[in-house]
Amino acid sequence: MTPLGEFLKKWWLPVAALLLASSPTVGVLWFRKFLEPYVASQDPMVVLNIGALLLWLILLLAAFLFLQRPWLQWDEPTGTWVSCFTQLRYCAKCRATKVITPLKNEVTGWRCMNCQSFFYDPARSHIESPKKRAAKSDRV
Ligand SMILES: [Zn+2]
Repeated sequence: MTPLGEFLKKWWLPVAALLLASSPTVGVLWFRKFLEPYVASQDPMVVLNIGALLLWLILLLAAFLFLQRPWLQWDEPTGTWVSCFTQLRYCAKCRATKVITPLKNEVTGWRCMNCQSFFYDPARSHIESPKKRAAKSDRV
């Protein structure tokens, strides 16, 4: 991947969140000259209702983002979800049932402590698990 592609992949979410968060503020500041006479001529209850509606829309958007969790990225080789902020891995089977469970790091991969599923790490496939090693030494 090109450096620009890697940069966009890593930073698109924080930049999108920043733009989304700052756009209403910038819009109000930009059109302040036109908005002030209009807002001053309105009934205070109308202004309060518009403010309450805007607050509700912001909270609705925040709830939608929280429920969708766009910060979790699918990791194809391991079959797990990875948080782009903390690099923690999450169970794919549990996420399918809308339960977000962080995975426990083990010798050759990760284990879900909720459903006991194991996810192998191809990067650590050369490492023998302690159980296999113990079984081999018992046979000799
Ligand atoms: Zn699980």
